[in-house]
Amino acid sequence: MKFLNLLVTLLLLGSNLFAQSPDKALQQMKVDVVYLASNLLEGRMTGEEGERLAAEYIASRFEEVGLKPMGQNGSWYHDFRFRYNSNPHSTEGGIEGIGKNVIGYLDNNAPTTVIIGAHYDHLGHGLDGSSLYAGEPAIHNGADDNASGVACMLYLAEYLKNSDAKNNNYLFIGFSGEEMGLFGSKRFAESPTIDLSKVNYMLNMDMVGRLNEEKVLAINGVGTSPVWKEVLPNIQVDGIKAKTTESGIGPSDHTSFYLKDIPVLHFFTGQHTDYHKPSDDSELVNYDGLYSVSKYIATLIESLDQKGKLAFTKTKEEQKQAASFKVSLGVMPDYVYDGEGMRIDAVLDGKPADKAGLKAGDVVIQIGDVKVKDIYDYMEGLSKFNKGEKATVVVKRKDKEIKKEVVF
Ligand SMILES: [Zn+2]
Repeated sequence: MKFLNLLVTLLLLGSNLFAQSPDKALQQMKVDVVYLASNLLEGRMTGEEGERLAAEYIASRFEEVGLKPMGQNGSWYHDFRFRYNSNPHSTEGGIEGIGKNVIGYLDNNAPTTVIIGAHYDHLGHGLDGSSLYAGEPAIHNGADDNASGVACMLYLAEYLKNSDAKNNNYLFIGFSGEEMGLFGSKRFAESPTIDLSKVNYMLNMDMVGRLNEEKVLAINGVGTSPVWKEVLPNIQVDGIKAKTTESGIGPSDHTSFYLKDIPVLHFFTGQHTDYHKPSDDSELVNYDGLYSVSKYIATLIESLDQKGKLAFTKTKEEQKQAASFKVSLGVMPDYVYDGEGMRIDAVLDGKPADKAGLKAGDVVIQIGDVKVKDIYDYMEGLSKFNKGEKATVVVKRKDKEIKKEVVF
């Protein structure tokens, strides 16, 4: 017992003495990933017990770092209702409940605030419509997706707490509901707990645990501010090579902030065969790589400290079209919408829908001869047209039905 006490004392002393040491930071990131991706949390499904345990863990880590709670009513949590159905044709079944974002604030009394986010929810025992695994139900641990991003966010919280970069405040958000359709980030962007007009930029880490041997880090969204292309080439950390794309719209939480005209970046170490499968486990994470990526982002943030509020620019959207489509309307469908028709989440600049005068919030109810009851009908309607052809598109805008001529 005595020996144990001594050991504990030494460990405590050690952890204080080396609070900022690289070894400790790397070790802490391992602890964060291993806990969040453990079977105990059963895949961190939004609305379930595992999600709640993960949220409590993130809140306790925020507290340990010395952040201030910035959720609802002075708590760490920002709750939201969600309804998920993997099959939009069905009105029955699906999942409903309450999800939780976890929010901590580092207040530097600065005029602007940087949002640093990572989703912590995952697929539970295999979320219908998202899991790519065909075997018996099994826990999807989600180590890379996205315990890695959360560990990186927690590293940045500790780092920035001790940094001289004090010209921004920092808001750290662990998002939930991401896998079901960006529910948590959308909800935060709609009812934020801080003034969004004072937000400088938003960084999203989603899947940063599998840095490859060539050390290629994908950075999406560099078209959202002219500053990104100016500063990124100067960030040299551990031989990381940035591979950038322009668009502010992608399949993760930064999209919700880009659509509010906030400059964003999404960091991503790439796809792998364990993606959305039970085998996305903590022992497969490249921890040295995760640490390098985290230092890279910390260096980027410090290099922006003197730049003031970044200019926002809209990006040319690089929409991925399914092979069977020869045309596209140039909109982001609202995958969360559960009414009749296909609601438009965003209209991409200069694309057919934009030119025809369609707007975000419009609900498409007919394309050509095809009545659109859901997103599948919408795709069927689109598949009937070739480039250069015209189509009459009927949308509901509030209570009015509006007809527009779209040229593909
Ligand atoms: Zn993810």
